[in-house]
Amino acid sequence: MNGHLEILPLKEWGLFTEPGPCVLAGPCSAETEEQVMDTAMQLKSIGVDVFRAGIWKPRTHPGSFEGVGTSGLSWLRRVQEELGMKTAVEVACREHVEACLEAGVDLLWIGARTTVNPFLVQEIADALEGSDKAVLVKNPLAQDLELWIGAVERLHEAGLRKIGVIHRGFPSAEPAPYRNPPQWKTVIEMRRRYPDLPMFCDPSHIAGCRDYIADLSQNAMDLGFDGLMVEVHRDPSCAWSDAGQQLTPAAFQDMLEHLEVRSVDTDSAALKDDIHVLRAKIDAIDDELLRLLQERMEVSARIGQCKKAGNITILQTSRWDEVLSKMVADGKASGLDEKMIVEIFSAIHEASIRVQNKIISGR
Ligand code: PEP
Ligand code: MN
Repeated sequence: MNGHLEILPLKEWGLFTEPGPCVLAGPCSAETEEQVMDTAMQLKSIGVDVFRAGIWKPRTHPGSFEGVGTSGLSWLRRVQEELGMKTAVEVACREHVEACLEAGVDLLWIGARTTVNPFLVQEIADALEGSDKAVLVKNPLAQDLELWIGAVERLHEAGLRKIGVIHRGFPSAEPAPYRNPPQWKTVIEMRRRYPDLPMFCDPSHIAGCRDYIADLSQNAMDLGFDGLMVEVHRDPSCAWSDAGQQLTPAAFQDMLEHLEVRSVDTDSAALKDDIHVLRAKIDAIDDELLRLLQERMEVSARIGQCKKAGNITILQTSRWDEVLSKMVADGKASGLDEKMIVEIFSAIHEASIRVQNKIISGR
């Protein structure tokens, strides 16, 4: 399936009324009735439409706080009735869905540890069949775009039309400042394939630390995300889960006020022209890059023929080390990011080896 999902535009979901990015905010976990009501009231006063709170918490270690369970749903009912806000809860199985449907929760989301499991996603989709609930699907823990899309497809096949996705980053073994580094190229690919699928960013779970949340939110806006899901707690340092990554309502308000939202279909003729001109330039540069790559591959194939004739091995590590260090040094001198240079040239080198392999093996 590619771009053939029938998705109701976010504006028609009846959940987000404020202009600007669609925002879901609230604590990682609902802890007490008082904490829920106090945090929700403060978020309401800064214009947040949708209050998020985890009721069932998927925790890495047993014995961590695993959520208050169904009793918290009546607190969310109070948020709806007394504050006029919409509510959002994470669901991970049929029982959670049924409890949320009965309690009238407005939006459900599927967490990263659930999206990864097609059995559970199917169970959730089956439990939702016949309802018109709004559901957001977080990216799976595994960096697998197809698995993420598959979860969206399962909900779509169950008849849901208010479906969106949330980018919450992917766990990485590499030491990084972020808890779950963002994979912007994966979400750009998602947008390319499903341009009508609403896309949210969860900077809290990407960051794992409140200091990075504002910058990540700005990155998301710059990339044209439709909205944000942010963890906000009335007193983050005392939170029962994810204490380090939650913002106070005041810090969240400050962040929203400084967020620059760039319109995708801007009305500003001057800006449109600029973007138009710059995009044309990028297209031309990309064409040139492709042409150069083709030329490089042809040369590489000729080297393959020489290696075959001289009975030389394909991989000559010292030569490759030399090429790579030269590229990194030259790239650095031109202000280019070292990681990018290594990734690009490693990919090109691998492709060259494949071409030479073909020539030498004669297959
Ligand atoms: C959450 O939103 O609190 C949560 C558990 O998120 P994730 O599924 O992204 O880890
Ligand atoms: Mn959390």
